[in-house]
Amino acid sequence: MTTTLFDLVHPAVKVVGESALYPVRRIFCVGRNYAGHAREMGSDPSREPPFYFTKPADALVPGGGPIPYPPGTSNLHHEIELVVALARPVFRCSAEEGAKAVFGHAIGLDMTRRDLQFAARDKGRPWCLGKAFEFSAPISPLLPSASPILSGRISLEVNGEIRQSGDINEMIWSIPEVISHLSQYYHLGLGDLIYTGTPEGVGPVVPGDRLVGRIDGLGELSVSITEEA
Ligand code: MN
Repeated sequence: MTTTLFDLVHPAVKVVGESALYPVRRIFCVGRNYAGHAREMGSDPSREPPFYFTKPADALVPGGGPIPYPPGTSNLHHEIELVVALARPVFRCSAEEGAKAVFGHAIGLDMTRRDLQFAARDKGRPWCLGKAFEFSAPISPLLPSASPILSGRISLEVNGEIRQSGDINEMIWSIPEVISHLSQYYHLGLGDLIYTGTPEGVGPVVPGDRLVGRIDGLGELSVSITEEA
């Protein structure tokens, strides 16, 4: 498939059972939303308000597949995440209203240049180089759903070995709560994806590795790491 300028300007994700694509406008990501991962990052997993970073929409890799090892890092990490897509406008909404704004869900990978993220974090600088880079957001097709996913197994295996495993119900902030909180700061709506955080067990990958992420009811997302482009 040839990438056109249109594809770059209008990133989109397949929708299970529909021919129309879901157009992506923005990608929000929740930091440390599972206690185990907060601890492994050296943080206190107390219920402080959620925080966010973003990725450019063209970081998406719809359907997964091969992605090149990114430049400038020697510590590329996997983070398996439940992704929620929004269907309708919400602003300063309650959790109940947020739940009704859900379009559907997908399996996502928040690929992270951990060395660059930590270098920025330690100096109090933004995380862009660590988080917001090309091919850093593989995503499965979206499965439409009238209500948010609140529980179910989430896992990631690398080369056939389970590295990350948890349950969606371990999220510190649930999807309705995240939508409500984020909507205090943004006019959210169609085209907005939220990567909702990763369970513990993050770790490095290298060229040749094959990653398979799974979430109950959403199937699989497969990604292979190729040599640096
Ligand atoms: Mn993440």
